[in-house]
Amino acid sequence: MAESTLELVVRNDIQPVCPHCEKELAMVFTRGRGFPLFQGRNNVFFCPECHKVLGFAQGRMA
Ligand SMILES: [Zn+2]
Repeated sequence: MAESTLELVVRNDIQPVCPHCEKELAMVFTRGRGFPLFQGRNNVFFCPECHKVLGFAQGRMA
């Protein structure tokens, strides 16, 4: 797996916007184990407004 060169910058003054419903996201919902299609260590992140999936992560938190 290639090493990421992405730099993380904390910007608490900007709210992320859902690409689906374009609502500002004060939070992102996540589900870990038990999500039927993605059992295992995958976490799914989804919008609390429209519930559409924003992305997946290989969860170390699961
Ligand atoms: Zn949304």
